[in-house]
Amino acid sequence: MNVEQVYKDANALLDGHFLLASGNHSSRYLQSAKVMEYPKKAAELTDALAEMIRENGIEVDTVCAPALGGVLTGYELARSLDVRSIFVEKKEGGMELRRGFEIAEGEKIIICEDIITTGGSALKAAKAIEALGGKVVAFASLANRGFCKRVGGLDEAKSACALPQDIPLFALDDFTFEMYAPEECPMCKEGSTAIKPGSKS
Ligand code: ZN
Repeated sequence: MNVEQVYKDANALLDGHFLLASGNHSSRYLQSAKVMEYPKKAAELTDALAEMIRENGIEVDTVCAPALGGVLTGYELARSLDVRSIFVEKKEGGMELRRGFEIAEGEKIIICEDIITTGGSALKAAKAIEALGGKVVAFASLANRGFCKRVGGLDEAKSACALPQDIPLFALDDFTFEMYAPEECPMCKEGSTAIKPGSKS
């Protein structure tokens, strides 16, 4: 599947000057919410992701997404895998399960994001799940920004990757583009201001 084309077709591959959740700046941004606007298209993507997960023999009881960014992708992936869907929400310093969601001891859980950049939010979600007795069996996302190593991807994980190396990451494609620390950002040096394209703007 050509994930870049899917994002382009949905006008979801943005050019500009963006402040990412990690605090870094980038000239491009993947606005996954635009790709998920059409449920049938979203289902095609998560069906393909579910197939990769099944082909690798991963057994899963539940998909858990970090809110808000991962919720739609997690819900559709749960449908594709025919399992339960839950999500965790931000709290000071991490994430937590709310809304009466429960996890059984040893329940096998996939943490699902829309995009894995360094994996910081996915890791916080995993820690929240493990603290409640769940077992994180994999991470999954539509696209991998190339800092972490996905199953079937070519490159080794970069030091910026926050995800544990002993749990597999499934993504439809690698999707690498430059990211800058604010003090090194060439667009800032030219005098423009980075905007927040996601849910925190
Ligand atoms: Zn900048």
